[in-house]
Amino acid sequence: MDSLTPEVKELIQSIDNKEKMVAMLAPSFAVDFDYPEIIGMLKRLGFKYVAEVTRGAIETNNQLLDLLKKNPEKRYITNPCPNVVRLIKNKFPELVQYLAPIDSPMSATAKIVAKKWPKYKKVFIGPCLVKKLEAKEDWPELDIFVLTYNELKQIFDIKNIVPDKKDKKAKFDIVGVGTELYPISGGLAQSACLDEKLTDPEMDIISGPVNVNKFLEQFFTEKKNVQVLDILNCDGGCINGPGVCSKEPLSTRRQKIINYWDSHK
Ligand code: SF4
Repeated sequence: MDSLTPEVKELIQSIDNKEKMVAMLAPSFAVDFDYPEIIGMLKRLGFKYVAEVTRGAIETNNQLLDLLKKNPEKRYITNPCPNVVRLIKNKFPELVQYLAPIDSPMSATAKIVAKKWPKYKKVFIGPCLVKKLEAKEDWPELDIFVLTYNELKQIFDIKNIVPDKKDKKAKFDIVGVGTELYPISGGLAQSACLDEKLTDPEMDIISGPVNVNKFLEQFFTEKKNVQVLDILNCDGGCINGPGVCSKEPLSTRRQKIINYWDSHK
């Protein structure tokens, strides 16, 4: 028990106390878990409802498209990656004004869940360690508890939850269709159809720390014509996040997300 993170210990306590809980499952879940079995497993673990964070990503896209409509002359850096947001605040403070003032998929989903089930503990489950900071520092009023896929797997092991035939019939309680490719680099731009609204030089897609730093350094020079930047810190996107369990090649993880997208249409 000593080797467990404080989050794993707290969630086990919440399960044992039979707290009312909603799981908010990040769009990259298909890299580490089978669908729909994961929904049934979460429900047997103690979650009353399971929401798909792709639903919040739809809000993120809509808010960004609204901004572009209202301010067609402005430049925007997208904000779903809290690592990029922190890098900009710490290393490129002159770019803070370009961060799109919109909800991340996590915060947008938490707002929907809070409205629907106000008294429930909101548990975001995803690939990212920095989301723990985003929840605490950027959205304290939403009271979001963050777990990684790694931590969830440990909890499944401790509680002896394994896939079951009945899980085949499990369904999300909140569904988001159209944003399933979000965890792959360029998924935001693809799902918001930015290529139909902007020309190639007006839009760029960046992932990986080296590319991210290089782009931000060139924001006012070589990249000055880019109006919308879809940017994620992990190489290839959230499918390569530090809280992911999979050691499969990125191409395999990418394909799993594409397969889930196909099955969801
Ligand atoms: S790209 Fe990496 S750091 Fe950024 S949100 Fe995704 S998992 Fe987190």
